[in-house]
Amino acid sequence: MTAQVIDGKAFAAGLRTRVAAGVARLKAEHGITPGLAVVLVGEDPASQVYVRNKGEQTRAAGMNSFEFKLPADASEQELLERVAALNADPAVNGILVQLPLPRHMDAAKVIDLIDPAKDVDGFHVVNAGKLAVGAEGLVPCTPLGCLMLVKDRLGGNLAGLNAVVIGRSNIVGKPMAHLLLKESCTVTIAHSKTRDLPALARSADILVAAVGIPQLVKGDWVKPGATVIDVGINRVPKLDGSGTRLVGDVDYASAAEVAGHITPVPGGVGPMTIACLLANCLTAACAQAGLPKPA
Ligand code: NDP
Repeated sequence: MTAQVIDGKAFAAGLRTRVAAGVARLKAEHGITPGLAVVLVGEDPASQVYVRNKGEQTRAAGMNSFEFKLPADASEQELLERVAALNADPAVNGILVQLPLPRHMDAAKVIDLIDPAKDVDGFHVVNAGKLAVGAEGLVPCTPLGCLMLVKDRLGGNLAGLNAVVIGRSNIVGKPMAHLLLKESCTVTIAHSKTRDLPALARSADILVAAVGIPQLVKGDWVKPGATVIDVGINRVPKLDGSGTRLVGDVDYASAAEVAGHITPVPGGVGPMTIACLLANCLTAACAQAGLPKPA
């Protein structure tokens, strides 16, 4: 069997178009232009690229983009004051503080200060708690994007399927597991202490890898026909020594021989993250105006 490739780039483009249409409606019918504020501390090159992309895609969707850059040696207090100002600013519907932060800053303390209604990353404990109890809230972008891709492929109804999520981080693994549970999957969360991970992975109809280890998941870990979602983004040396390339947490070549559907890296989950961020910002703007969640 050779798996069908899940084209996250194309799906994300479609989602961005739907968000832009929702933004246009919100403007036309209610005079509201959603605003997304991104705060970047320091000069990390990968974060700078990511923030620039976010800004461009935010504007392309018709939303206002506000970018704030603080120097790497800014104090935690300065960052907290910036977040407090954004909480109070009615033109800002979504706030994202780009992670990782410099070591002298406590990310948990900063996230805790973000107004949960503007927490478009979905990392605040209030939103994490809402997801855990099955209430409406803002859901972390990467797992939200993964779920959209899975539902698109499997026809929407995931009830009863076995899902194994490898990784239990607060930003990917745990929210992913909650989302799949909400879809009535039978969910198992694996992590670094899990015993016989290959056998567990082989029980999965839906296998999500969010580990951070290049090509950990091999083809013989995959149940024939399974849907494999590779969240990993790992930069490794090219085989011929000429620079680096991106690989996922799944050994794509061997897994694609066995899986039914699989996301590539790059071009799978990655593009969904910013698209879902835009979707979350639109959702947040609607909720703050007392309007229903956009379709
Ligand atoms: P974390 O480092 O926070 O979490 C990794 C998880 O993997 C932990 O729960 C850890 O277990 C588990 N783990 C580590 N080693 C093993 C192992 N040998 N077997 C099983 N489980 C293991 O990573 P993130 O969740 O932040 O990110 C995961 C990956 O996803 C990374 O490659 C990251 O770059 C990528 N990513 C991609 C995004 C995108 O937009 N596509 C967005 C966010 C992340 P334990 O808890 O026991 O330590």
